Amino acid sequence: KSWFSDVGMAPRDPILGVTEKFLADTSPDKINLGVGAYRDDSGKPVVLDCVREAERRIAGKDFMEYLPIGGLRDFVTESVKLAYGDACPDLSNVAAVQSLSGTGSCRLMAEFQRRFMPHSTVYIPVPTWSNHHSIWRDAGVPQSTYRYYKPETKGLDFEGLMEDVKAAPSGSLFLLHACAHNPTGVDPTPEQWAAISKLMAERGHFPFFDMAYQGFASGDCDKDSGAIRTFLRDGHRLGVSQSYAKNMGMYGQRIGAFSIVCDSKDEAARVESQMKLVARPMYSNPPLHGALMVKTILRDPQLKAQWFAEVRGMAERIISMRALLRRNLEQLGSQHSWKHITDQIGMFAYSGMTPEMVDTLAAKHSIYMTRNGRISMAGVNTKNVARLASAMHEVTK
Ligand code: PLP
Repeated sequence: KSWFSDVGMAPRDPILGVTEKFLADTSPDKINLGVGAYRDDSGKPVVLDCVREAERRIAGKDFMEYLPIGGLRDFVTESVKLAYGDACPDLSNVAAVQSLSGTGSCRLMAEFQRRFMPHSTVYIPVPTWSNHHSIWRDAGVPQSTYRYYKPETKGLDFEGLMEDVKAAPSGSLFLLHACAHNPTGVDPTPEQWAAISKLMAERGHFPFFDMAYQGFASGDCDKDSGAIRTFLRDGHRLGVSQSYAKNMGMYGQRIGAFSIVCDSKDEAARVESQMKLVARPMYSNPPLHGALMVKTILRDPQLKAQWFAEVRGMAERIISMRALLRRNLEQLGSQHSWKHITDQIGMFAYSGMTPEMVDTLAAKHSIYMTRNGRISMAGVNTKNVARLASAMHEVTK
């Protein structure tokens, strides 16, 4: 008997499994709307000009030594400033480390919670990015959920959310999507965020913002971190996960930051030392190249301005594709309302299509998406939108 004869086959990842099916399809017209990775209007992946320029500037300049456990200090400092803006007047109260992109930041938060917030539960929105459940499960943190999305309105279940925040035991950790909620594209309004912040303060909860799309939602990095800044101004201590996968198109570089706002400089030093103790046995220290590129962009006013323009360009292309998809569906005479496609924001449109409809789209039209009906708007362009709309119209008739 072999050592591993009893090992069962793991289920496919619900998101990455879509790409596998797409690759196996031989149709020349096939469309992949599964994974959340930006494509230009020709369906091609994009490397931002500011990133290419940063790459040129750093080429050959640095040694390839290990970074410290907490990563590249200047990169971390710039990241924290980008997230918090002037809402956090004293950055010396912030404990922060470079992370392995958004996923890695969440993993560090989950592990930190298990060690230092004993008996606390993580509250996860319904629905959420599927990996959130697995990340906190693997860290061994008790999980619960809170209401977020209302299928009837295809919008926020604000009342349900507030009830669940109120009912959760004081001292719970609430996982919040800072902007461009994945998969629904539904965000609270600024007024709703203010009310959530107030209630969480009253209830003594710890807010943790997963910010995978800063700049990618509205095109404006300050606006997209508005919720975090509201919470900070209300006096919250909170945690933030940042990722440069989407907003700088640096998916494969695995570059992000994890930070926690503390009560004092001394507390921040202690918290940061423990973050490093979590990271060291997991991966020792983070990768160098992406950190150097992001630091180069954020430290140079001209490159930073170029990045702001480029991230705005990506966000605006997606916003215009939402309008085009909705218009196409309406022109085909669809009896359904598709207003939610333009109301939602960010990378994804939560279409409301059923798993069966999604299966038909794949089988009959070679159009691929996750079975929850989530469309990656980044894969929609002026060449495929008409075909997508007519296929959606057909399966939703
Ligand atoms: N969090 C959310 C809400 C996401 O949508 C994603 C990516 O899809 C991530 C985290 C992780 O992204 P990454 O680890 O590539 O930065």
